[in-house]
Amino acid sequence: MSRFAHPAGDRHAEVLPEERPPHAPADLNALNPALWPRTSERIDGTITIGGVDVRDLAAKYGSPLLVMDEEDFRSRCRDYRASFHDGDVHYAGKAFLCREVARWIMQEGLGLDVCSAGELAVALSVGFPPERITMHGNNKSAAELERAVVTGVGHIVADSFEEIARLGYLADKHGVRPKVMIRVTVGVEAHTHEFIATAHDDQKFGLSLNSGAAAEAVRRVLALPSLELVGLHSHIGSQISDTAGFEVAARRLAGLLAQIKDEHGVVLPELDLGGGYGIPYLDGDDAPDIKLIAESLREIVANVCASARLPLPRLTVEPGRSITGLAGITLYEVGTVKDVEGLRTYVSVDGGMSDNIRTALYGAEYTARLASRSSEAAPMLSRLVGKHCESGDMVIRDLYLPADLAPGDLIAVAGTGAYCRSLANNYNYLPKPAVVAVSGGQARVIVQRETEEDLLRGQL
Ligand SMILES: *Cc1c(COP(=O)(O)O)cnc(C)c1O
Repeated sequence: MSRFAHPAGDRHAEVLPEERPPHAPADLNALNPALWPRTSERIDGTITIGGVDVRDLAAKYGSPLLVMDEEDFRSRCRDYRASFHDGDVHYAGKAFLCREVARWIMQEGLGLDVCSAGELAVALSVGFPPERITMHGNNKSAAELERAVVTGVGHIVADSFEEIARLGYLADKHGVRPKVMIRVTVGVEAHTHEFIATAHDDQKFGLSLNSGAAAEAVRRVLALPSLELVGLHSHIGSQISDTAGFEVAARRLAGLLAQIKDEHGVVLPELDLGGGYGIPYLDGDDAPDIKLIAESLREIVANVCASARLPLPRLTVEPGRSITGLAGITLYEVGTVKDVEGLRTYVSVDGGMSDNIRTALYGAEYTARLASRSSEAAPMLSRLVGKHCESGDMVIRDLYLPADLAPGDLIAVAGTGAYCRSLANNYNYLPKPAVVAVSGGQARVIVQRETEEDLLRGQL
């Protein structure tokens, strides 16, 4: 069982990692290549990414700073494209989307998933081809659906009966015939935190396979000539390292394809298996191998389809975290260092739950290193905390940092490229940090740091 697995019914196990005694890593300066951006290295003691020294980044752009390794991001896009060469790869924009990232996705030949009008607007603003966009969401507004229909997005994933009726109406109104998929809840208990598991029956996403709601949704879409039903969609959750869940979902979804052929004589050409592939955050974490996943999913779907005498549907996957997560690191400057006698040292940084709420939200874990220099000092049990007015404002609950850590040092937190910037907030009126992309020894701002003016804009 992976670290993320826990017995059913004990879903809070991840939130209380207190009992797990942290152990000091052998080398506090080491950068495990499985956890750090592909171009990162330590040169003369200092971490560089994309050939750029983190001290220069902090001096020029300030901190906290989200640093994106462009080559890392793009190379993971290429890895996915190679593994799913006979299918489609859609990047899930909600993991981290800005205009420049949308361009990277477009240039690397991937499609894009959006789940709001805002995400759609980001993509369209850089000329992203609408036919390569899929629109998701459990509660798309009428305006969002209309925007998707009018824009001509490639696929709309229907999540409820109301939405199917609305889509039918909008398609008639605009004289178009959008491609529709049904979001199927396949009843898989994904081994991940409750808040990011999405395929057990008792939750807000999708139409249940077990209850027959999914089959009913298929009937309703097929009854509307203005909608083109092209396939089924399933997404079982996020940060999943045990591949069994993906395989069960693929088998059940393909089974429903066969059932649809029996009932309606209709052969749906597409199957979208969603995203959720986990990434390593800590030394020793295991993460699924994309190539192996691609092979096993293809084989499972091929087997089910062969026994039902169905042609192989075109497969789509929708990775978010596993493309952008490890490409990003957050740089913080150390401020207060407080030794709480006999317990641990609280190391405060200049951001926190406003730029990374995942630790507070669901007990996420991260690896961090002193970045602006190396140190041979002894390991010091620490808690990396933010500057917000909540004691739950932690970036890393337990970690070891060198005992000579001092105010002004820079700390880099690995694996913050996904679901950090996109969940960022302005708690305590902190401006959201800048995002810089580094590549080939150059850095450039791709999202500007918010200013006080930004924070005050729009207020009476
Ligand atoms: C969130 C989401 C994804 C991406 O999940 P990751 O864990 O980031 O890979 C893919 N598809 C759908 C429908 C999603 O909601």
